[in-house]
Amino acid sequence: MEIAAVEARWLRAPIPEAGQHTSDFGRLRTFDAVLVTVRTKDGAEGFGEAKAAVGSAGDCASLVTTVERELGPALIGRDPRRITEAWERMYCGQRGELALDRGRSFPDVARRGPRIAAIGAVDTALWDLAGQAHRVPVVELLGGACRDAMPAYASGGWGGVDRIGDELGAFVERGFRAVKMRVGAMDQHVETSAVRTLAARAALGPDVELMVDSHGTFSLPEAKRFARMVESANLRWFEEPTPLDDVEAAAELRSSTDIPIAVGESLSTRFEFRDVLERRAADVLQPDVALVGGITEARRVAALAETAQVELAPHLWGSAVSYLAGLHVAFASPAARILEVSLGANPLLRELPEWPPTVEDGQVKVPEGPGLGFRPRAELVDEWTVPL
Ligand SMILES: [Mg+2]
Repeated sequence: MEIAAVEARWLRAPIPEAGQHTSDFGRLRTFDAVLVTVRTKDGAEGFGEAKAAVGSAGDCASLVTTVERELGPALIGRDPRRITEAWERMYCGQRGELALDRGRSFPDVARRGPRIAAIGAVDTALWDLAGQAHRVPVVELLGGACRDAMPAYASGGWGGVDRIGDELGAFVERGFRAVKMRVGAMDQHVETSAVRTLAARAALGPDVELMVDSHGTFSLPEAKRFARMVESANLRWFEEPTPLDDVEAAAELRSSTDIPIAVGESLSTRFEFRDVLERRAADVLQPDVALVGGITEARRVAALAETAQVELAPHLWGSAVSYLAGLHVAFASPAARILEVSLGANPLLRELPEWPPTVEDGQVKVPEGPGLGFRPRAELVDEWTVPL
């Protein structure tokens, strides 16, 4: 097998007004992602995704440039099945050869953030191709599934105190036994977040699992106060409680509460997750395949979670490509027990794929390949491509 072309497209799918929601990221009118296609000489196509934002909308122009002008040309002619080597070469840039010779990374200066997201998109496409070449789903290349199916949690929960119970209750009616709601700066006051959370618990009853996510917008004192005020809500986890640049804040919060702390959806590479674990800042690690550095890096984070004996719960808020990629990694890890399913409007998850992902009775089945098990509908790719 030989790589013949690496293509990147910025897809921007409009969200109909009735499906738009507002959070600390503002009103979300589009869903954006970069779809990377790696083609081989014999006509096989592997798909990967990079994102410019953890929410939904974001400007993806620089990601397209990074993939098409910097990463792609260096891969032409190489064997797509040599994935780890390709990751190291992309991470180390001009010093890739030297790094492989010495057995240590000599990373490019842009070793976190968008460049890693771009590397991850190519990496995921290579895993897809490798799975297709071996005629197995990616999860089998990762050691096979630990479970036949996993429970999913419905991710949404933006409603005010009067609406939040009904909003989350509707997810339960669709079969979910776990739900996540948003709190934090979008509520103006800590008390408002706490009252909404307690209202949600009262409406759901004791048997439905409830998580909260503040997108890193509480200060440390606010997060501590919130955690104290919602002690009776028996939260499954408190996600991104404090500012993302302050790992110590999450660690201090974690030592002051028995609510499990979840972090990681915007982190780059295993190295940032290692720092989180070394500072004992998390009970749940949430790598996003489209940001952390692809399947290669997400599975390394899974190994860290398994080593530290904490939970793995990949961030699955993206197109069907990163959703499926995260699924393959999660099913291959004993540390993953629950999967995120976005209940926000997301045309890239539900309309883009030829075979849209399904949830039955709150459960997600192990993905079937070969590869990722994804093909985009070509007419939507054309319709949603942003010209650059
Ligand atoms: Mg989150």
